[in-house]
Amino acid sequence: MEKKSFLTKEELTEVTKKYPTPFHIYDEKGIRENARKLKDAFSWNKGYKEFFAVKATPNPYILQIMKEEGCGLDCSSYTELMLAETVGVTGENIMFSSNVTPAEEYVKAEELGGIINLDDFTHIDFLEKVAKIPEKICCRYNPGGVYKVSNSIMDNPGDAKYGFTKEQIIEGYKILKSKGVKEFGLHSFLCSNTVTNEYYPMLARTLFELAVELKEKTGANITFINLSGGIGIPYKPDQPANDIYAIGEGVRKAFEEILVPAGMGDVAIYTELGRFMLAPFGQLVAKAVHEKHIYKEYIGLDACAANLMRPAMYGAYHHITVPGKENLPLDHKYDVTGSLCENNDKFAIDRMLPKIDMGDFVVIHDTGAHGFSMGYNYNGRLRSAELLLQPDRSVKLIRRAETPKDYFATFDVTEFTFKDR
Ligand SMILES: *Cc1c(COP(=O)(O)O)cnc(C)c1O
Repeated sequence: MEKKSFLTKEELTEVTKKYPTPFHIYDEKGIRENARKLKDAFSWNKGYKEFFAVKATPNPYILQIMKEEGCGLDCSSYTELMLAETVGVTGENIMFSSNVTPAEEYVKAEELGGIINLDDFTHIDFLEKVAKIPEKICCRYNPGGVYKVSNSIMDNPGDAKYGFTKEQIIEGYKILKSKGVKEFGLHSFLCSNTVTNEYYPMLARTLFELAVELKEKTGANITFINLSGGIGIPYKPDQPANDIYAIGEGVRKAFEEILVPAGMGDVAIYTELGRFMLAPFGQLVAKAVHEKHIYKEYIGLDACAANLMRPAMYGAYHHITVPGKENLPLDHKYDVTGSLCENNDKFAIDRMLPKIDMGDFVVIHDTGAHGFSMGYNYNGRLRSAELLLQPDRSVKLIRRAETPKDYFATFDVTEFTFKDR
């Protein structure tokens, strides 16, 4: 599918009079329509709920939109819990799926009444010591080995740090039951960014079968199954997108075949999607500020990996377009780079693009999830602003850009003073 900037060159020129590049901008209309589709695709399940993964896009305005669309929030840290609290998402609308969890985070999660998703067997004792064992709890499962969908290896759970083994989860349920747990949930996250309609139905089968076994072996009352994140998006324009209706239908089939005959037809299905909910509805907008002609042709942007780490970190592909030049031939081969003193600070390598002139807007697509949020301050680079394109096409600032003052704020413990800040 062709990828187009949410804003035309003319619109961007207007926006940048007020908010200079670089910035991430999110498309509210797209976010809402997509959230409604997801809900519709799982409407066959009475208790269905999406808990948006806060870490993907931790901005209260985005979380507020999610709340309005009927989603809960999946949090994994103290500050993410604070974000949920700030937008008024509390109680069982919080799923606390963390790992290597500090004591005060369990305390905070329980204070807010969130559902705790235990990552490990040893956390049963830990939780009991630092807070208390609640009446409703979830456990995260790791089947080990490699995970195959249609005979191709999707991921390697045996190498992943998350979850209980099979033996541990059976034992864990028994212990938790003896400590007063009345309602259980089951969770697993096996593959990230899957672009296949088969992943969720496969995962559902694995978890549904385990749920039936757990019920038989421990007598636990399992009330929800959390399929977690992992539904991906086509970052490349020629990749076919997931069909969320086919995915919902695939999970329904597994549900009818496995849970219903086991008398578990009232189990609620939960999801914790981040990327699927936000990635396509965010863009990083930058400007070309330098060109360089050495052994290769380079275009330097006013954004860098501190604003979007995925290409540097995973070699991830992000599509790039140049507003106003959509119809020009892609006859120039560029490396599109940021300014970090790291040679992996490249948004694209050997990418065919139209001829780029200094001052052109360069739009990096699909940055709505795990984009801004993975930002950092290396080389003293500052995080950008975040903007929201509202349904009436007005643009709202939802986080200002960092200034040097923010960068120096944590030196308030020193005797050094910094001028002009
Ligand atoms: C990151 C994460 C998610 C969201 O993953 P996506 O790939 O963005 O859908 C959900 N649950 C947990 C526990 C996570 O760590």
